[in-house]
Amino acid sequence: MITLNEHYFKLQASYLFSDIAARVTSFQKENPEIDVIKLGIGDVTKGLTPTSIAAFHKAVDEMADDATFRGYGPEQGYEFLREAIAVNDFQSRGADISSDEIFVSDGAKCDTGNFQELFTSDITIAIPDPVYPVYLDTNVMAGRTGEFADGRYRGVVYLESTRENNFVPDLPEDKVDLIYLCFPNNPTGSTISKTELKNWVDYARDHKALILFDAAYESFIRDDSLPKTIYEVEGAREVAVEFRSFSKNAGFTGTRCAYTVVPKECRAYDGKGNIQHIHSLWHRRHCTKFNGVSYPVQRAAEATYSEEGKKETRALVDYYMRNADAVCDTFRSLNYEFAGGENSPYIWIDGKRDSWEFFDMLLRETGVVCTPGGGFGKCGNQYIRISAFNSYENVQTAMTRLTEKLK
Ligand SMILES: *Cc1c(COP(=O)(O)O)cnc(C)c1O
Repeated sequence: MITLNEHYFKLQASYLFSDIAARVTSFQKENPEIDVIKLGIGDVTKGLTPTSIAAFHKAVDEMADDATFRGYGPEQGYEFLREAIAVNDFQSRGADISSDEIFVSDGAKCDTGNFQELFTSDITIAIPDPVYPVYLDTNVMAGRTGEFADGRYRGVVYLESTRENNFVPDLPEDKVDLIYLCFPNNPTGSTISKTELKNWVDYARDHKALILFDAAYESFIRDDSLPKTIYEVEGAREVAVEFRSFSKNAGFTGTRCAYTVVPKECRAYDGKGNIQHIHSLWHRRHCTKFNGVSYPVQRAAEATYSEEGKKETRALVDYYMRNADAVCDTFRSLNYEFAGGENSPYIWIDGKRDSWEFFDMLLRETGVVCTPGGGFGKCGNQYIRISAFNSYENVQTAMTRLTEKLK
């Protein structure tokens, strides 16, 4: 008899984005004259940069010629891309990461979701609230949680991000084994200082724990005193894995390229309590289950590290950050409390009322779509997330409408 992994039955159907889409569609049907502006989804809106596209095209042409054609590449990614990543994203920041510690993949979503496979099902996991849902759901599927009750899964240690802690969770009181952190954060837009991040690294060292650090929004950091990678923190190589992506900085959400960093010293423990290195296990897993990102995509990603490519991706990020500034200015002048928007494309606004109620009001009265914070966890119940991913003109129009309504 073919039987099912019943842990899947515990999953809460994620109604968030489909619920939003349904409400927007029905609103549009009733109000066809209103031009709806979407500041809800976390997807980019601008095209790939000219340098990336040129490299992409050239590599596609190489694939058409027997002399330059490439078949299966290295599962871990081509050395040309891994070397560019190691030099530009890490060594340039004084972080000691080498190209053989980089694993190129088709997404940080898959990587953050897959990494938990390396560990036993009885470890204790610590997950932020509010959170990017992938970390939580993949652990539910793996059977690391109990049932869902009162808005939370039993057996999970929730790391609450609230105004009181400036949306940087406090260290857990109970001992945890696997810790998920994401900075700059989705959905709150908050950042973590080097000192605060050092506290987490020290916690992991003291408690034989591991940190999975999601840095998908690293390129939005404008304050140079903030850490751009966890490996800027002393002692992190032994206790942290980092996830990065070309999705948000270079517009690769539909092109697909990301990478995971697993330092050689990064460790976990076997059943006897002996130290084992994670690098070789992740390498084995990656090579067994994954056959590499396509060659043209890796060339397009490599191009983001050329002088011209860097300028273009910086301009892309600056474009969205100008939108973020406009959103922050608007809500500041309306006397709303908010986090994010300074080193992040997300602005997390305290609506001082139920997040779905605020969402509905904004849609009905202004035609602006945001994301209700309750969809990211209990701590998001009175917040909304506004995303800077849209055209500058649309953001301007949206902010004018919001000001009219909320002033
Ligand atoms: C967008 C995003 C990613 C990137 O995912 P990809 O699969 O690389 O597109 C990772 N983590 C968070 C928190 C994100 O918002």
